[in-house]
Amino acid sequence: MSFLEKGRYYGYPECCIFAFIESFATRESGKNYISNNRSGFLPCFACAQKVINKEIKIKDLIKNRECETAFPRDNGKRIQEYRKNMMASLLKKQTQANPLTKI
Ligand SMILES: [Zn+2]
Repeated sequence: MSFLEKGRYYGYPECCIFAFIESFATRESGKNYISNNRSGFLPCFACAQKVINKEIKIKDLIKNRECETAFPRDNGKRIQEYRKNMMASLLKKQTQANPLTKI
C-alpha cells in the first residue's frame, strides 16, 4: 500500500497526504506541527494551523474514511490483511534465501 492509498483509506485530506509524501522526498519524514498529537495522522501545515487555532478538531479533518475502526485507531481489516501478507512474503523471502533455516 502506498502512502497515498493508506492516507485515503484513513480518510486523511489530500493536502495532508501530499505534504506527508513530499516531506519524505526532502527527508523531513513527516513533521508533527501539533504538539499533543499522537494520533498517527500528521496534518499539513495549513490544516495544523486550523487545529492549533481551535477552528477545527483534528478528527474533523477525517473524511470518507474507508477504514472501519474509528480514528485514530489504525488497524482496520485491510491494514491487518496487508500486514499479514507483508509478514508472509518476508518469511518466504527468508526461507528462499536460506532454505536450511528452520522456522
Ligand atoms: Zn491538509
